[in-house]
Amino acid sequence: MFNLTGKIAIVTGASRGIGKSIAVLLASNGATVVAVAREEHASETVAEITTAGGHAEIASLDVTQASEIEALVATTVKRHGSIDILINNAGIARDQLALRMKHSDWDTVIATNLTASFLCSQMVLKPMIRKRNGRIVNISSVVGQMGNTGQVNYAASKAGLIGLTKSLAREVASRNITVNAVAPGLIDTNMSKDILGKTHDRWKEQIPLGRMGTTTEVATAVCFLVSDEASYITGQVLAVNGGMYM
Ligand code: NDP
Repeated sequence: MFNLTGKIAIVTGASRGIGKSIAVLLASNGATVVAVAREEHASETVAEITTAGGHAEIASLDVTQASEIEALVATTVKRHGSIDILINNAGIARDQLALRMKHSDWDTVIATNLTASFLCSQMVLKPMIRKRNGRIVNISSVVGQMGNTGQVNYAASKAGLIGLTKSLAREVASRNITVNAVAPGLIDTNMSKDILGKTHDRWKEQIPLGRMGTTTEVATAVCFLVSDEASYITGQVLAVNGGMYM
């Protein structure tokens, strides 16, 4: 679909769901993928890619730990010479009405979804600036654009990612680095199953295309944004939401 041959890509949250599809699609387009998740969770993703003839390696770390991200970036640069692509996809939800939300659930969601994306982006900037080339894609959410009851922490983190995307895009454009966000709507993964539960049909009624999205549909948008074909696109939010929010 796109030619990513020779590109080195870090994908966080690559053990399942959207991140796994992004990793697999980037690799099938020629990129070498560093698949990040906790413990050995991304091993299946790496096996799937290598079995198909692609290049991937596992990076087992917690994105909320700055020192672990720093080590990942250093190791990747040492091994491959550069980092061309960063996909900030790792994310969690800890839903509750604002009145009852534990402060720890606010903090954990912001740390995982927003602060970790900032830290990963900050740390890949040096190698990208050196190369005068780079692509960063942040996985936001339709919830960051329209809000959602019971998700003040999650919505704030995803809206924050949009602000981060637009600001960083301005800072690094002169170095030929693009920074964009993809805002998925309702995508069929473990996370959406956990959140939706029995309210699934009510949600579907709000989607003009009348169905959930697939992880591959999100991954395809990501692959486009990191490709040469998207070289003049930066600071944008690409919605992949079936028309749920326009
Ligand atoms: P999943 O719950 O299926 O996967 C989440 C991924 O994030 C896993 O790979 C998980 O790895 C990783 N992760 C979570 N916390 C950490 C951490 N501290 N350190 C390292 N990795 C971590 O989620 P989805 O695939 O559904 O979602 C992916 C992204 O897309 C998220 O940012 C989510 O907010 C966003 N999104 C999802 C939508 C949906 O409908 N599914 C809609 C809009 C946005 P591990 O194996 O270690 O747990």
